[in-house]
Amino acid sequence: MPINPPAYVLSVLHRLEHSGYQAYVVGGCVRDSLMGIEPSDWDVCSDATPEQMLAVFERRRIIPTGLKHGTITVRSKGHNVEVTTFRIDGSYSDNRHPDRVSFVAKLEEDLSRRDFTVNAMAYNPRSGLVDIFGGEKDLEGHTIRCVGEPDVRFHEDGLRILRALRFAARFQFDIEEKTSNSIRRNRNLLDNISVERVFKELQGILVARGAAGILAAFPEVVESFLPETRATFDSKAWKIKVFRIGAAPEESFPMRLAFLLHGLTPQQVKNTLVRLKSDNRTMRYVTTLLEELPKPLPITRGEMRKLIGRIGESMVRALLCAASILEGVEAVRASEQLLEETLATPPAYVLQNLAIDGQELMNLGVPAGPALGAVLQRLLNEVQEEKLPNEKGALVARSEELIRRQEA
Ligand code: ATP
Ligand code: MG
Repeated sequence: MPINPPAYVLSVLHRLEHSGYQAYVVGGCVRDSLMGIEPSDWDVCSDATPEQMLAVFERRRIIPTGLKHGTITVRSKGHNVEVTTFRIDGSYSDNRHPDRVSFVAKLEEDLSRRDFTVNAMAYNPRSGLVDIFGGEKDLEGHTIRCVGEPDVRFHEDGLRILRALRFAARFQFDIEEKTSNSIRRNRNLLDNISVERVFKELQGILVARGAAGILAAFPEVVESFLPETRATFDSKAWKIKVFRIGAAPEESFPMRLAFLLHGLTPQQVKNTLVRLKSDNRTMRYVTTLLEELPKPLPITRGEMRKLIGRIGESMVRALLCAASILEGVEAVRASEQLLEETLATPPAYVLQNLAIDGQELMNLGVPAGPALGAVLQRLLNEVQEEKLPNEKGALVARSEELIRRQEA
C-alpha cells in the first residue's frame, strides 16, 4: 500500500528539508499506511533540535508540547503535526521513564529506540521507506516483534508488554516467540507501571477485534495486574470467560470489562475498579451489569417498566445483550420483545397520560370532588401496575365497576 502523507504533513517535511534538515513521517502512520488503514495522526521526526525547529517555523505556528523530550507541535493548514527530534532514551531506572533523553543525528538510532519492528519504520517521499528492522516483512507475516533484545526492551519500559498485546489484538497478529516468551517471563515488570497507563492499555486490548485470542494466550499477564481474577484462571473457566469477552460487542469496553470481572464478588469488583482508577461511568456500568445479571429477567411489563426506571433503557439493553451471551439468544428473546412492547406502550406515569379524564368520569356519573380524584388515582395505580391497559374501553369498564362498588 502506498504511503500518502496529506498536504499539511508534506508541507512540514518540505519546510524542514528546505532549511537543511532531515524529516520523515514515522511510527504508527507508516505502519497503518502499509496496512491500508487511514492513519489517525501523522508523527514527524527530524534531526533538527527543538531550538532549530523554533527557528524554522514561525512562532505563531508553534505549540511547545514537550520541549524537554524534543517534541513541538506545528500548526499546518489547520492541523496539528507533532515533530520530534531524533533521540535515544537514556537508562530507565524505573522501567518506564527514561532518566534522560539524548538527541541524536541519525534516523537509524531513533528507529532503534522504538518498541516493535512494525512501529519502527520511517518514510519520506524522497528516500522512500526506511525499514532497518524488517518491519514490512513482519507486517506481511502478521507478527509483533521487539526491536532488539526483548528482555532488554521490556526492562527499559514494562508498558511495552501491554502495548505488544494491544497491537497484536488490534491487528490480529501473532507475537513472535522470543518476544512472547519474554513477555511471560517479565510480566511482573508491570508492577512498576502506573495504574492509569495499565488501565488505558487494558481498554485498548479489550476493545480490539482480536481481544479474545490474545487474552486466551496470555492469562498470566492479565493475572499480573489483575490478581483478583486468579480464582477464575483454571483453563476451562478462563476459556469460557475469554469467549464471552469476544462475543460482547467490540466497541463496548465496559461490557467486555464486566465479563473479565465476572465471577468476582460484588465487593471484589468494586475494589478492583477503584484500584484501577476506573472512571465513574465505567464503574457504574460494570457494577450495575454484574449486579443485575444473576437476577431473573422481567416477565411482565410492570416488572420491565420498573427495571427501566431503575437502571435506564440503554442499561436494560446492555443487560439483555450480556444475558444472551451468558445464556443464549433464545433465553432472552421474550424479554427483548417485552422491552420493545413496554417502550411502545406510552407509560401512564401521570394522570394527564391516562386514556380517560375527569370529565369523562363525570359523564359516567362520578360526582366532582374527592370521589372523582380517588377513582382517577386508583385507575392510574392499576395502569402502572399493569393490571389494566391504558385504553379508554378498559378504563371505562373498570370505572363503572368501581362506581357500582362505591354505590353498593
Ligand atoms: P496508535 O495508533 O495506537 O497511536 P502508534 O504506533 O502511533 O499507535 P503511539 O503510542 O502513538 O503508537 O506512539 C507512536 C510511536 O512511538 C510508536 O509507533 C513507536 O514507534 C513509538 N513508541 C511509543 N511508545 C513507545 C514505547 N513505550 N517504547 C518504545 N517506542 C514507543
Ligand atoms: Mg499514535
